[in-house]
Amino acid sequence: MRHDTIKTTEEVVSCSDNGQHPLVYISLKNGPNQCQYCGQRFVRETPDNKKAA
Ligand SMILES: [Zn+2]
Repeated sequence: MRHDTIKTTEEVVSCSDNGQHPLVYISLKNGPNQCQYCGQRFVRETPDNKKAA
């Protein structure tokens, strides 16, 4: 079980957990999301929401 949240500036990220599960694409357009297979969390980080935070 992982606890790290991956920060990215992409609207869509992919995850395969280093080949441990099928490659899936995860949309972050509506906010933080997580991989349905491995539970890895991703958050989209942009200059805009850094200011807002
Ligand atoms: Zn995954």
